[in-house]
Amino acid sequence: MNSRRNFLQKLAASVAAFPLLSVETLASIEQTGSLVQDGPPLRVAIMGLGSYGTRVAEAMKDCKRARLTGVVSGTPAKITSWQSKYNIPAKNCYNYENFDRIKDNPDIDAVYVITPNALHREHAIRAAKAGKHVICEKPMALNAKEGQEMVDACKKANVKLLVGYRMHFEPKTLEIVRMRKEGELGKILFFQGLSGFAIGDPGQWRLTKELAGGGALMDIGIYSINGARYMVGEEPVWVTAQETKTDPQKFKPGVDETIQFQLGFPGGAVASCLSTYSMNNLDRFFLNGSKGFAELQPATGYGPIKGRTNKGELTQPHMTHQTIQMDEMAAIIMDGKQAVVPVDGEEGLRDLKIIDAIYKAVATGKKVELKLL
Ligand code: NAD
Repeated sequence: MNSRRNFLQKLAASVAAFPLLSVETLASIEQTGSLVQDGPPLRVAIMGLGSYGTRVAEAMKDCKRARLTGVVSGTPAKITSWQSKYNIPAKNCYNYENFDRIKDNPDIDAVYVITPNALHREHAIRAAKAGKHVICEKPMALNAKEGQEMVDACKKANVKLLVGYRMHFEPKTLEIVRMRKEGELGKILFFQGLSGFAIGDPGQWRLTKELAGGGALMDIGIYSINGARYMVGEEPVWVTAQETKTDPQKFKPGVDETIQFQLGFPGGAVASCLSTYSMNNLDRFFLNGSKGFAELQPATGYGPIKGRTNKGELTQPHMTHQTIQMDEMAAIIMDGKQAVVPVDGEEGLRDLKIIDAIYKAVATGKKVELKLL
């Protein structure tokens, strides 16, 4: 009896912490310690064993549904080290020349593309043609044209395309989305997104137009673009933008240092955002409604995310973002589960259309109309 009472008490606490989830899912969390219900595992090959690939691999050790079973890398020494660290058999290891052969490997369901931005398109399309589901890091591609080609290739190959938007599964973020959806914040008229950090080594690929496709906007400003959409809950219909550059040596032509941009939404809301590679401690979201407000700071770092609303501090528990993301993506791919905030290729494509429009607004000094729906 006691254990049943404890279970029900814990369940009630979970309902408060994760109000968007069904009671069945919450019961499963309490019983299994996971947000994800049982089912077949998603067996993933990580492509690009750099700093973020390593973070994802470490986080996947705690996954219930996703499993790291393969790697794709151009560096033989990294393959050897990952093999022993993550117990990956030699038959599941590929390089960039031979990885199309992954199509004959029944032990890999999905390829997670974690290479520099300019390589996402080619890598994702090759994985799709090999019949594997694709998870691709943000930004999904360099521009909307490339993004559309990726969406089309995955559709043609009948595989899913997901984008590594880890914040879409973050509990405090989802609580704000719930409050906004249920009208607790009233009519939304303003969002502010500040996304930036002071970038170091001037020789890195993030500061090379050919590999990064741009500058801070592609890398970090995209969090404010994406955040504005899921916080306001609408698709923007216009963009204005202004660029400032204080260090043209470090930030060469085509590599943006700082861009301020504004997004207009059909319901009348406006987003005012800053994207920069020159300022530290810029990771803040603020959403204002007629009945309340919500703020997150830090809003998109690896966490713990902190935030409050007009009702008080947000207390949802911290979970390693990449662990929960990969478990949820396993459920999306294997069970057809719907994410509360979508992470599919169309979602990535909309952000790319906004990025294209922001660069156009910077270049022309004019307001650019958007048609995302
Ligand atoms: P990184 O430089 O640490 O790793 C990139 C990897 O790609 C390296 O292992 C490198 O060897 C490999 N690579 C393959 N071909 C290459 C080539 N031609 N030139 C250079 N490198 C090549 O970069 P990272 O920080 O791991 O970023 C990789 C991707 O992940 C980027 O798209 C980035 O935006 C994304 N990312 C996402 C998050 C997130 O929180 N979602 C965080 C960091 C990075």
